[in-house]
Amino acid sequence: MARNLDIKAVGPRTLAIHAGEQPDPATGASSPNIVMSTTFVKEKPEGFSAYELTDESPFVYTRWANPTVRLLEAKVAALEGAEAASAFASGMAAASAILFAELSSGDHLIVSDVAYAGIAELTRDTLPRMGVAVSKVDTSDLDALAAAVRPETKLIFIDTPCNPLLRLTDIAAAAGIAHDAGARLAVDSTFASPVGCNPLALGADYVMHSATKYIGGHGDAVGGLVCGASALIRPLISEAIVHYGGVISPFNAWLIARGAATLPLRMKAHQESALALARWLEGDARVARVNYPGLQSHPQHALARRQMTNFSGMMSFRLKGTEADGLAVAERMAGELGIIHYAVSLGHHRSLICWLPTSAMMENSFRLEGAQAAAYREWAGPGLFRLSVGLEDAEDLIRDLDAVL
Ligand SMILES: *Cc1c(COP(=O)(O)O)cnc(C)c1O
Repeated sequence: MARNLDIKAVGPRTLAIHAGEQPDPATGASSPNIVMSTTFVKEKPEGFSAYELTDESPFVYTRWANPTVRLLEAKVAALEGAEAASAFASGMAAASAILFAELSSGDHLIVSDVAYAGIAELTRDTLPRMGVAVSKVDTSDLDALAAAVRPETKLIFIDTPCNPLLRLTDIAAAAGIAHDAGARLAVDSTFASPVGCNPLALGADYVMHSATKYIGGHGDAVGGLVCGASALIRPLISEAIVHYGGVISPFNAWLIARGAATLPLRMKAHQESALALARWLEGDARVARVNYPGLQSHPQHALARRQMTNFSGMMSFRLKGTEADGLAVAERMAGELGIIHYAVSLGHHRSLICWLPTSAMMENSFRLEGAQAAAYREWAGPGLFRLSVGLEDAEDLIRDLDAVL
């Protein structure tokens, strides 16, 4: 019953559905089973070191490898055009796997000054404690990025489009800067999803996703993925999965793989509705600025067109008025929105919105100064509403927002 899928010869919709899957050889089941077993029965005694594992090794123990987890890895690797992928318990486990596998005491890391809050805080608070020097750089400014490189620079870690500004970093240029310095480039591509951007094809060494977001797509499973060349992913598995232990539950891997089957179709719909909402917001007198890479008014729209194939459903916008005015609208949203959920997270079929006041973002997560703080305020003003446009009817979402702005 084994079927041959030539993953180089089919389109992303076919890959999303079929990559990594086979009908069950025992029963012919068309949909994949969930293998929850933690251990696997051996026909003869075998070794026990993670360093002996290869992709061909038989399954031994689920922290090392599991058939359902492998299905998810194969599917996302195919969508990213990657040789290999490794799944993790969360997006943060995926990010920390890259950081801890690449960086040792004495090394230097460059990280986007505006990145996912967990990554901003981990690189600020934990890595320096371990002897890693960290520079926060506005990586959308390639001159600033090149100027930050040192002889000890080992890794450049960028977030594009970044959370919550939706500001982009030129991936191909950042890869060039990293490689000229003998460093590697990692890209947090969660906002774009594997449908919106393929950083490896642009020269990145690692691409990571919070699969909790678009890849899973339904807000019911936390997970993460890192994709890259086998030579980089294999040691990441031995070190980060087997030894740090951030293994994903096979049940979550199954849910995320099931969600991933519709990723190309969902992204198309997310983009279509997001564009409708972004245009409506931009034309509304109450709105001061909309940050959406698909809008012509986005300062990096040309770069977005160059490196993104789908602009996704993520945007942020700010209203006219003060931070206190923004808070009052956020309170109205939390109490009165009928469809959109006032909640963190993103990439789900349900639309989600939350208020990110600049003062709190600066104090807790970013702590930017000088030109970096000024650049943040240029995009965010006193605060941003981060909107993850879901799969509902766009007109209903517009009506919902119109009533509370
Ligand atoms: C959510 C998110 C993460 C962290 O992922 P978890 O699955 O919540 O651990 C990392 N990067 C970005 C851009 C995210 O949105």
